[in-house]
Amino acid sequence: MRYCKKCTMPDTRPGITFDAEGVCSACRHYESRKNVDWDARFKEFEAYCDKYRGMNGPGGYDCAVAVSGGKDSHFQVWMLKEVMHMNPILFSVEDNFPMTQAGIHNLKNISEEFGCTIISCKPNIKVQKILMRKFFEKYGKPTWYVDRLIYTFPLHMAAKFNTPMLCYGENVSFEYGGNADKETYSAMGQIENGVAVGMPMEELLGDGVTENDLSLTLAPSAEERAKLDPFYMSYFVPWNSYKNYQIAKAHGFHDLTHEWDRTHHAENFDQIDSRAYLVHSWLKYPKFGHAAATDYTARYIRYGMMTREEAILQMNLLEHTFFAFRDEDNDGAFAVVYKRTDGGYGLIEDVA
Ligand SMILES: [Zn+2]
Repeated sequence: MRYCKKCTMPDTRPGITFDAEGVCSACRHYESRKNVDWDARFKEFEAYCDKYRGMNGPGGYDCAVAVSGGKDSHFQVWMLKEVMHMNPILFSVEDNFPMTQAGIHNLKNISEEFGCTIISCKPNIKVQKILMRKFFEKYGKPTWYVDRLIYTFPLHMAAKFNTPMLCYGENVSFEYGGNADKETYSAMGQIENGVAVGMPMEELLGDGVTENDLSLTLAPSAEERAKLDPFYMSYFVPWNSYKNYQIAKAHGFHDLTHEWDRTHHAENFDQIDSRAYLVHSWLKYPKFGHAAATDYTARYIRYGMMTREEAILQMNLLEHTFFAFRDEDNDGAFAVVYKRTDGGYGLIEDVA
């Protein structure tokens, strides 16, 4: 297993590539943003909005946002409604698990703060239970059914509401190292290259699941998709998870402070709405050799908010409860850094 020389992301992350200098594709993409003319991109964004603004007549929705209620959703809705003066309708997919207090507050807040209607999908619980178990046991992907709906439901709804301009946040494959190497505003290809690619129907049927249960998990027809023009906001404006969090907080977004100190996480503001959903991120460690803390420390390094050394310490402390090493500053003595139950760190050193 190799680690990126800049951000410490391992090469076991799906889709990531390393160059001759041992630097990952996500770091190289982030660096290449310096060469982007963001003023020109913003003008492109204005032209794109101008094309659709008011398209369904006075009072009609003219764009849509796929929202979770999270920090990025807040940022996207703020940008479209308050900066670009569009009239967005919001589409959300719930996961049927108990929500955190912050998650309940945030979904309500995004509607109240920006004055938006949310059309929410509560997936078929019977099918969710059957498919969660099957996909957990077979692929280690318990949340496939909900993940898939997060991709497909907004497309179906955008077709029904005649809002071709459907907003997604970031191009995950491009920003964090994946298969997408050429950047484009269009999110049309997302459904085929995302984390929840379609499964053959025979994989889904059986155990009580019938074709009637699955129509929303299918991609809309080619004819319907041809009418849509979905986009990634991260193409038009510089995307930064931490800055989005700051803007969201200024508009009433709640993080997990005072509610829950999550293990294996370097932040308390990403994917915070549901506890059970975190099984997905916990499974990254056995599958890919890194957990959610590495995703964030890698971003913090790219944003210039953390050094590589600080990140390694955090990763090791967050992704394990203790970390044994040879202390080079102490003649190679054996030492253990461990996490105290009060949240601090302890160090036990052997006498060299
Ligand atoms: Zn990297």
